[in-house]
Amino acid sequence: MGQRPGSAELPPAHPFDHDKLREECGVFGVVGLAEAANFVALGLHALQHRGQEAGGIVSYDPETGFNSARRFGYVRDNFTEASVMETLPGALAIGHVRYSTAGKKGQTAVRDVQPFFGEFSMGGCAIAHNGNITNAAALRRELIDRGSIFQSSSDTECIIHLMARSLQQTIPERMKDALRRVEGAYSVVAMTRTKLIGVRDPLGVRPLVLGRLGEGYVLASETCALDIIGAEFLREVAPGEMVIAEHGELKSYRPFEPTRPRFCIFEHVYFSRPDSILGGRSVYETRRAIGEELAREAPVEADLVCPVPDSGTPAAIGYSQQSGIPFAMGIIRNQYVGRTFIEPTDQIRNMGVRLKLNVNRALVRGKRVVLVDDSVVRGTTSRKIKEMILDAGAAEVHFRIASPPTAWPCFYGVDTPDREKLLAATMTEEEMRCHLAVDSLKFISLDGLYRAVGEAEGRNAEHPQYCDACFSGAYPVAPADMIEKGFELKAAE
Ligand code: SF4
Repeated sequence: MGQRPGSAELPPAHPFDHDKLREECGVFGVVGLAEAANFVALGLHALQHRGQEAGGIVSYDPETGFNSARRFGYVRDNFTEASVMETLPGALAIGHVRYSTAGKKGQTAVRDVQPFFGEFSMGGCAIAHNGNITNAAALRRELIDRGSIFQSSSDTECIIHLMARSLQQTIPERMKDALRRVEGAYSVVAMTRTKLIGVRDPLGVRPLVLGRLGEGYVLASETCALDIIGAEFLREVAPGEMVIAEHGELKSYRPFEPTRPRFCIFEHVYFSRPDSILGGRSVYETRRAIGEELAREAPVEADLVCPVPDSGTPAAIGYSQQSGIPFAMGIIRNQYVGRTFIEPTDQIRNMGVRLKLNVNRALVRGKRVVLVDDSVVRGTTSRKIKEMILDAGAAEVHFRIASPPTAWPCFYGVDTPDREKLLAATMTEEEMRCHLAVDSLKFISLDGLYRAVGEAEGRNAEHPQYCDACFSGAYPVAPADMIEKGFELKAAE
C-alpha cells in the first residue's frame, strides 16, 4: 500500500482537464449474472469519464468469498487481463472509478481506492460511493474519539464505521442508520454475499440508474454504462430511495424524510456522457437545447459557429441551428494524445494545448467565429484557444458559454479550484471579456439553463428544482466541514 506510482503520467480525459470542473467518481454493480466482474469492468470502462485516477472491483463467490482488485490508472489497462479477472469470480460484483474524493489530489494511496469492505457479525459488505460527504471531518473525529481506526483518507470509510456502530441486525438496516447521519451528496452501490444495494441521498444530487440484463440487475452512475453491456434501462433510483436486488427480486425502501430533490444541473451541461439519459431526457438533446437557448439569449453577427471539442459540440450545433450561422469544426482535437505528454508545470501544460487541439486554418481565416464551450473555470484555456483562433487569421472571436458563470466551488463530489481561482468569482462578465480579450463573451442565464433542461418557467427562486450552487452560491446542503475551515457562504440578498 504505497503512494500512487507515476502519479503524473495519466493523460487527462478532456484536453483541458485542469481547467474544467471534474466529476470525481462513477459506480457500477451487477447481481445475478455469471462472471459479474467482467460486466463491472465493461461498465466502469463506459464511466471512465467520471474518474481516471484509479478503479476497483469487489466480487463475491460462495467458494472463495469476497475478492477485490484495486488499481491506479484506466480500467482498460487494469481490468482486461484474464489473470486479473479470474481473481474476481462470482455472480455479484461492484466497482468504482475515481478521480479522488478526500485527501490530497494526485497523491492517493491504494488504500483510498474504492470499493471499501467491512466485515460485520452478520457478514461482509463492500461499498462504493459517488459524491462527497460534507460532514465527513466531523463524523471522522467523532468516530475516532469513540475508538474507530480508519484505514484511508476517504470520506466513504465513515459509512463503514457508522455501520459498525449501528445496533441493527441486518446490513441494509445498518446502512440506513449510517446514511441518516451523513450529510451531502452520495450515490452508493454496495453488496453483501447475496444482495446488490443502491442508495441515493435524499436530494438525489448525483445520478444512479437501475437496469436489467437477463435474470440479473444492474446499477450504474449513467445509462451509457448499461448500454455497453446490453442491459435494459429500467429507471433511475429515486432521490432518497434504497433498492435491494437479491435472488432475482427487487425491493425498494425510503429510509429518509422526503424532501425536494436537487439533482446536479451540471450533469446535464458537462459531466454526463451525451449518450446517457438523465431525467428522461437525452443529455445530447439537452445540450443542443442549451445551445438554442444561448443563441436566443445572446445572438451575434458571425460567419461560423465552432465548438470547443468535444464537450461544446452539441451546444454549438444547437446554437448554429437556432441562429442559422453555419456549424463548422474550426478546432480539431488530436484523439491520440496519451501518456507521452506529461504535464507537471503550467508552462508545459499551456504548450500542451497546441498538442491536443489545432485550428482548422483554412476554415477560420478571415471569418467572424462564434466559439461555444461548456464552461469557463479558470479561463486559462479560453485565452489560449482565442489566441490560436486569432493566430489562424480569424477576424473576430465571440465566446458563447453553455453554463452560467462558475463563481462558487462544488462540495458535492466535483473537483473545483478554490473560489479565488474561479474567474467568475472575481470578475464581472465585462471584466472577463477584457481579460480573455475577445470581441464578445456571453454565458447562458440560469433561467435559460433551467428552460433548456425542461423547466419551462425557468428557475423557481424559492424552491430551485436543481442544485446550481456553483453558479448561484445557493448550497442545498450547508458544507459543514468547509464552513468550519472558514469558507464563507453567500450573504443573503
Ligand atoms: S455545485 Fe454545481 S457541480 Fe456541484 S452538485 Fe451543484 S450543480 Fe453540480
